Amino acid sequence: METAARYCDRHGLHFTPTRRRVLELLLTRHRALGAYDLLEKLREEGLGSQPPVAYRALDFLVTHGFVHKIEHLNAYVACSHPGEEHAPAFMICRTCDAVVETPARPTTGALGSAARKIGFQIETTVMEASGTCPSCRPDATG
Ligand SMILES: [Zn+2]
Ligand SMILES: [Zn+2]
Repeated sequence: METAARYCDRHGLHFTPTRRRVLELLLTRHRALGAYDLLEKLREEGLGSQPPVAYRALDFLVTHGFVHKIEHLNAYVACSHPGEEHAPAFMICRTCDAVVETPARPTTGALGSAARKIGFQIETTVMEASGTCPSCRPDATG
């Protein structure tokens, strides 16, 4: 939260109450939230009931790296290490939608060497793995 506030300060950006609240909502849940869910929350709190308000706030947060979009779920999660250059990979639980962000290096490993072989330069990759988180595994003991 402070990282985002400082970043906006430094870059002369407006960290509006809506942007702040959207980031806060995403930070307090370790799961992805869709734009519609976020809009519902904002409406309940009287921060804006117009979809563009939520979308603009999300756009802002994604552009500046505080939030990542999970293409697979069409939803958003707060970044675990904002302010750092990184290529995240996501592990998404099919059962509870919990999302874990891990750093990934798309230019190394199998994908990287395949790309080098054909002379392809990777700029961005979307790495999203779906499966079952520890708490949703049937054999979990709790
Ligand atoms: Zn991140
Ligand atoms: Zn789960």
